[in-house]
Formats: sequence, structure tokens, C-alpha cells
Amino acid sequence: MCHSLDEVKRLVTRFHDSVAFVINHSGGKDSTRMLGFVRACFPNAPTFAVMADTGFEHQRPISALDFARFRCAEFNVSLTVVRNPRRSYLEMVEQRGMFPSAKYRQCTSDLKRGPIEKYIRTLPFRLIFNCMGIRSEESPSRSKSRPLSLNASLTTQARTVHNWFPIFEQTLSEVLAWHWKNSIPLHPVYIPDFHEDGTTGGYLRRLSCRLCIFSTDSDLLAIRQQDPEAFHAVSELERKIGFNMRSTGSLVQITDAAQSVIDVRNTQACLPF
Ligand code: SF4
Repeated sequence: MCHSLDEVKRLVTRFHDSVAFVINHSGGKDSTRMLGFVRACFPNAPTFAVMADTGFEHQRPISALDFARFRCAEFNVSLTVVRNPRRSYLEMVEQRGMFPSAKYRQCTSDLKRGPIEKYIRTLPFRLIFNCMGIRSEESPSRSKSRPLSLNASLTTQARTVHNWFPIFEQTLSEVLAWHWKNSIPLHPVYIPDFHEDGTTGGYLRRLSCRLCIFSTDSDLLAIRQQDPEAFHAVSELERKIGFNMRSTGSLVQITDAAQSVIDVRNTQACLPF
């Protein structure tokens, strides 16, 4: 149950004739769960899905964009794709000569938040909920977020915008269970454990940029093996700008080390006792 839902319902009743929901959709499991949740709670409210294309989205075996479009169509919501007209993710890193970090997430602000906020400014509603599929469980810092808050930069005299995390309290198991129960597919790039329909070949727990600044060491190794093009593009960029994405070493060094750990473990497992 979403504790912020009561307050959202109260606001919707107050502004009933001019309320809209904007679903930030990445094509991922949480965005789709959020879309289903909002449509179920507010079936009659105008709902718009928007996807920010960073230029480094998954393309195979189906693009994240097409996948998101299909999921939105299942809920009778059309998807608008927005972009930063000046640069893609890789171009941004090259122009700055450095990668974004957890502290300075310029990729999110320039390539996602900025274009989405520009889109929201075009919508003619007095009350808008800017909905994001953030869940408390994802990290300690996220758990401290407020699931409903005023977006001061988008709010004007004529328009009030709230950021809302509709599935903030939901766990990963609940999100997956909802997909399975409703036969709503997950993007094939997700690990096989996430799929109930036997889809195999996936290697990631998150659907984000093909290689994200938040990728774990094991993600990076999986990307090197399963999406060598993306790995090579970022690895080459590190070399070109003379700056590593991680402070602990280059992508090649990190993934070589991760592979060595796996090799040692496998060797030990094979030793006779
Ligand atoms: S998915 Fe990762 S790399 Fe891409 S914009 Fe978001 S934080 Fe940055």
C-alpha cells in the first residue's frame, strides 16, 4: 500500500478537472509496475508516459524504447520520447572530459530530468504528478526520500507539479510478482531469475543505460561478455579522455580482476578434498 496515495487522492479531488499524471518510463520493471499502479488508482485521469532517450539505451534483442512503447500501449497510454538535442550520453562524457559520478549525476540532470521537465511544461494542466518508479528498498539514500514532494522548479502560479514515487514502498518481489500475475513481460536484458516465462539470455538486474555509472563489478563483467560493443565504447572513451569511470581502475582492469576472482573460485571448487 502506498502511504502517499491518500494525499495524492485528496489533491486529485481538489483539482479534479485539470489533473494529469506523467509516467517517467525507461522500459524497465519498476516503470511498468508504476504505470499499472497509477492506471489502476486513477483510471479516468489523463496519463502520459515519457521516456528520456540518452542515446545509450539497450537496442537488442528489442530496443528499450520499443519495449516501453508496447508496455504503455497495453495500458492505453501513449509514449513520448524526449532527448537532449545537444548531446547523447557518450558525447556528454567526451565533451566534459570526465564521467558523471553518484554525487554529480550530470547525465541524469542533462539527459533525463531536463528534457522531461521541458515536456511537462508543455502540458496544459493545473496539477501534474511527475511519477517516478523509485523504490525505498533500492538503496539507503533512496529510502530517505519523500515519496511525494512539491517540484518547485516546475510549479508556477498556473501549474502545481508534485514529484511522486507511486511504488516507493514496493519490494522487488512484489514488483516481479505483479508482472508474473498479470503476464506482463520484462525486457529480455533482465537476468533469467526475473522472468517467469523462461526467458533466458539476460544478464542485468537493472534496465538503464547499456553501461551505467552505477553498474556493479559483476554487471561490468557481464556487459563485457554480453554487450561487448557498449563495453568497448566506454572503455575506449576512458582511454581517449584519460579519465576512468571508476576511481578503482579502468573498466578493463576492474573486469579482469572480477574474472580472476571467479577463476580462482572455480579452480578451488574443482580441487579434490
Ligand atoms: S542510467 Fe546511469 S549512466 Fe545513464 S543517465 Fe542514468 S545514472 Fe547516468
